[in-house]
Amino acid sequence: MPRRRRHSPDTVARMRQELLGWYHRNKRDLPWRRTTDPYAIWVSEIMLQQTRVAAVIDRYTAFLQYFPDIQSLAKAHEQDVLALWSGLGYYRRARMLHKAAQSVVSDHNGVMPTTAEGLRSLPGIGSYTAAAIASIAHNEPIAVIDGNVERVLSRIQGWHSHDTISEAAVRRKVDDFAQTLIDPRHPGDYNQAIMELGATICTPRNPQCLVCPWARECHTLGEHRTPKRAAMTTREIACALITRETESRTEILLEQRAAANTVMPGLWELPSIELTKSLKTAHVFTVRHAIMQVNYIVHVYSLPTESISSSAARCNWISADRASSMALTGLARKILTKAHVIPSRSRHQLPHPPSRE
Ligand code: SF4
Repeated sequence: MPRRRRHSPDTVARMRQELLGWYHRNKRDLPWRRTTDPYAIWVSEIMLQQTRVAAVIDRYTAFLQYFPDIQSLAKAHEQDVLALWSGLGYYRRARMLHKAAQSVVSDHNGVMPTTAEGLRSLPGIGSYTAAAIASIAHNEPIAVIDGNVERVLSRIQGWHSHDTISEAAVRRKVDDFAQTLIDPRHPGDYNQAIMELGATICTPRNPQCLVCPWARECHTLGEHRTPKRAAMTTREIACALITRETESRTEILLEQRAAANTVMPGLWELPSIELTKSLKTAHVFTVRHAIMQVNYIVHVYSLPTESISSSAARCNWISADRASSMALTGLARKILTKAHVIPSRSRHQLPHPPSRE
């Protein structure tokens, strides 16, 4: 691994200027970039973890509409928080956000800590999120380091882990270099700029070095190994779409995942069934759905109401109107939308307000 190339104070100053200039000319206009409210920045940072920007924009707006401040989030029912998170995946993030809001209200008089160190004491806030909130909302000169930032700085320096140098050693060097580069006068903009560079220019594959503001400082110009992603596996499963008409409405049989489940506890989904040949005639459609490293091929079967007892543990008849505002799993929402049981969420349509019966 090449040693760290020392950058003189002049070079560091120039790099800051080049990056910030590029950012101000090219940054995407995103709703969380129009605020310095720490709560709003916090919500955006949590939503953006492992989720594409395009998928977050509308959900961020809706979430803040229903929970405009920490107090409203703290007193919300968890199922309503999950309902607004439905489709974003990684529901543990929503639970921790909710828990942390309650902690701010009960332990901090309703005011979020203003330093990265203080923020890290809240449930679900790690180093990255704490640095993002503290630098953007409170101008604390602390560098954010996520996968994008690590990739950019490693490529600049030509660092990568190999047989003799561990990933942890690279990470320590990246931390140190990141903290050297951060602009103490504009730490929030600097942090957003380097993340934007990693997300849009210095991408994992095919970095656009010709338009990169740091090309002349870069040791590798894209000729740099990027760790391969874990391979996806494929699983085939089946679930039952069971509906009934009452006098005034359509109802769907949904099942709530057990609270003790490690994945998506408490969320609502279609009852799963065994995939057998005898189901063939009841086949409605098949959807694909990725969860973490698994690509699911999901066969949906329309079954008669008596095929699964509604008295089965955790099964309930739910009206279609209510289902669309419940904490459905992303897969359940995808299937019910495709089956036209619940309306689709258009890009500009907010989810229904949380409802309780
Ligand atoms: S020059 Fe290329 S590899 Fe180097 S930081 Fe810029 S985009 Fe990444």
